Amino acid sequence: MVKKRLAALREGFSLAGIDGFLITRPENRRYMTGFTGSSGVALVSGDRAYFITDFRYVEQATNQAPEFHIVKHGLKMTDTIREVAEEAGIGRLGFEKDVVTYKQHEAFSSALAGIELIPTEGMVEALRKVKDEHEIEAIRQAEAIGDAAFSHVLDIMRPGMTEIDVALEIEWFMRKNGAEGIGFEVIVASGERGAMPHGVASSKKLAEGELVVMDFGAVYQGYRGDMTRTVSLGKASPMQRKLYNIVLRAQEAALEGIRPGKTGKEIDAIARKVIEDAGYGENFGHGLGHGVGLAVHEEPRLSVTGMEELVCGMVVTVEPGIYVPGFAGVRIEDLVVVSESGIRNITSSPKELIEL
Ligand code: ZN
Ligand code: ZN
Repeated sequence: MVKKRLAALREGFSLAGIDGFLITRPENRRYMTGFTGSSGVALVSGDRAYFITDFRYVEQATNQAPEFHIVKHGLKMTDTIREVAEEAGIGRLGFEKDVVTYKQHEAFSSALAGIELIPTEGMVEALRKVKDEHEIEAIRQAEAIGDAAFSHVLDIMRPGMTEIDVALEIEWFMRKNGAEGIGFEVIVASGERGAMPHGVASSKKLAEGELVVMDFGAVYQGYRGDMTRTVSLGKASPMQRKLYNIVLRAQEAALEGIRPGKTGKEIDAIARKVIEDAGYGENFGHGLGHGVGLAVHEEPRLSVTGMEELVCGMVVTVEPGIYVPGFAGVRIEDLVVVSESGIRNITSSPKELIEL
């Protein structure tokens, strides 16, 4: 797996005008090396691969990154990077321009005198967009933990609990059932707070008659799940039900429209049209979805700017929403794998309006 990824990365070298590449983004480092620790950089040349880390991680890196020469650095990692780059005969070293800070760049520039530093963008991210079967399986497991957490929280949610109580129940359940962690802060937004698309759980108490938006995801083997469900506490009002059904129709239409060859923009437009035709275009102010993998938000984007064509093996969310300030919000989010026939939906929680 790592061998294949290294070969694919090297294929991009000539187009980028580089003969070596320095990997610093944690997700890229993990993807390219297999190393799950939190410190170190990978340096890949045309025919060699090094992993440079400090003494705390040498043993772990030796075990997890067998395709890489493990090099322990001393006080100044940049000096070790120079030694290794010189040994590998690198003259033009690519770095991740959206990750390396100004300060790091200064340090690299002074330590790597004689080696040209070339800014690059998206070299590993481009490989990460299309998932292999192991990655899809890890994402499926993460999402299954989320589905189980949703089912659990439905049993205990009631008016009087705070949003934080609900979020902690979700988090606790996921951790207790195999999640390594949470992919992002659990969103629980009830009543008027639901109109904030990213309303992280607050101390507000849930009340009868409110819609509650819950958005969360587990981490499993480094991979993220991501799902949103909106439920009603008590019987939904006609207006709440109306908004819910528009969002559901928009989501179902978009799910049906996904197939290889379509662009993210085209899929976004399907959902957007349903919501616009119902008179709520102004209330759907975010993109329809995003790629999910080692990061919770990655390429490709399903949005008005998503020009990229979908291909089999991409894993994306489909999450239309309607947000009415002062009233409520509704969002429904599934995670799907793009497949030959369209999609494989890996979120299995029910989508009819649940009234608790
Ligand atoms: Zn989400
Ligand atoms: Zn999402």
